[in-house]
Amino acid sequence: MKFVVVTGGVISGLGKGITTSSLARILKSRGMAVTVVKIDPYLNVDAGTMNPYQHGEVFVLDDGMEVDLDLGNYERFLGESLPGSHNITTGKVYRAVIEKERRGDYLGNTVQIIPHVTGEVKRMLREAGQSAGAEVVLVEVGGTVGDIESMPFLEALRELQQEVGGKENMAFVHTTLVPVVGAVGEAKTKPTQHSVRELRSIGIAPDMVMARGPALLTPELKAKISLFCDVPAEAVISVPDQVTVYHVPLHLESQGVGDYLTKRLKLPTRTADWTRWRQFLDTYGKATREVHVGFVGKYIQLKDAYLSHLEAFHHCQGNLGVKISVEWFDAEDLRKDPATQQRLREVDGILIPGGYGVRGIEGKILAAEIARTQNIPFLGICLGFQLATVEFARNVLQLKDANSSELDPHTPHPVVTLLDTQEGVANLGGTQRLGSQRVLLTEDSQVHRLYGRREIFERHRHRFEVNPTYLERFTKAGYAVTGTSPDGRVEVFELPDHPFFLGVQYHPEFLSRPESPHPLFAGLVRAALARREGVSTSKEEVPRVPTPSIVA
Ligand code: GLN
Repeated sequence: MKFVVVTGGVISGLGKGITTSSLARILKSRGMAVTVVKIDPYLNVDAGTMNPYQHGEVFVLDDGMEVDLDLGNYERFLGESLPGSHNITTGKVYRAVIEKERRGDYLGNTVQIIPHVTGEVKRMLREAGQSAGAEVVLVEVGGTVGDIESMPFLEALRELQQEVGGKENMAFVHTTLVPVVGAVGEAKTKPTQHSVRELRSIGIAPDMVMARGPALLTPELKAKISLFCDVPAEAVISVPDQVTVYHVPLHLESQGVGDYLTKRLKLPTRTADWTRWRQFLDTYGKATREVHVGFVGKYIQLKDAYLSHLEAFHHCQGNLGVKISVEWFDAEDLRKDPATQQRLREVDGILIPGGYGVRGIEGKILAAEIARTQNIPFLGICLGFQLATVEFARNVLQLKDANSSELDPHTPHPVVTLLDTQEGVANLGGTQRLGSQRVLLTEDSQVHRLYGRREIFERHRHRFEVNPTYLERFTKAGYAVTGTSPDGRVEVFELPDHPFFLGVQYHPEFLSRPESPHPLFAGLVRAALARREGVSTSKEEVPRVPTPSIVA
């Protein structure tokens, strides 16, 4: 088993996650068995309790682990599902070490960062690689080299390099910033030099430098970085922003990254197969038709809070050849401002994502009402699905004070209520209904036609659900339950008299991939296009390529 470690210097937010994902894809395209692990040097055990405003979206895996959003990038680039053990946090490592200490596993020794914490990190990394059957494990170290938090991890990686047999089996890729400054726009390499020096001071010598920045590096600048940082010029890679993140792997390939890594790690030389990937980029670039989708959220200042949804739209563009322009609606503004409401009436499709808490909910309920009454194609996800249910109760069943008991514990009509299996919510970590769950779809429903199958697996993250005591009244009024869990929970509802109105309790955005866009997102885009162009599009236009996780 070999390792490729990606570290970051100068500033955070340089796109290490995309670099790591791209390197993984580059090796996979050469037929290597690869996997990816993210190290997050924070004390939280997992991302489940973290505010999306600080770290972006919480990504959910098949096994129900709530993880850093970079795991989503890895899954999308690899087209594979990863387990939660591939997100190592300081919290997880310390928890494991302390549990071992309490059990007496350390036989009376003083428990220390070196060797016990570093030992645990190495064990977790090896274990992740082994259980995935990987020939190469990519490891992304969150944060910036020099942070106190990341020290034990970098030390563990330094030790691991020795243990796996040195440079031949482990390469370090350092991502840095080359800013362009001054009136003449000069690219500056000094921050890169400093950051590489910082890395060397902890005993790690980089094998490749990924220079992020606005401009392509000239051969002279590459030579300069090569000289000062002591990496070969062919291993200084220029990575300016690309049209989409999916353009990055081929941009890296064009600078010989795949061949260099193959040589450096003495991997078998094979030609890379980019056929399907290029097809995606080609269709993406040629998109001429366009739809406008209204996205009604509450974290709209930070687009990373909804990263997987936005990626799912990119996947649609690269497969359907339709450009999706996302229009952001702050749910709170929507409630108050008639001009914003009018703007929402003019979009071609509406999406309400998941969420928690009371802020913005009345605006989201209004958005669902606009979609329903104006025949605008609609997809409600998790909280969006629950609020579309509340809207239906209030405005179709005339249960005026209906609500979710999460949002109004005293509502006389709790049409959405706490899951009956709930064992108490005092511990907020991992206590929701999480991860991949089986969903049974009704024959000949819209959702069945979209998936092309009766049984699916989708990822969940919720505490509340549609209250079964209202179901009879709902269905009589036209709320069609077309997806349920094997034990009868409502998973999907649709409105048969509407061109496209779907609510799903689960999170389709987590399973959309560039090579297989999610059928529900594709369905929304297709319906939006039909509305915009005033035509009905044929079913064949929806790609029937569900990801492995969806398939029963
Ligand atoms: N807050 C809702 C629940 O707990 C919805 C959760 C979500 O959208 N992920 O059920």
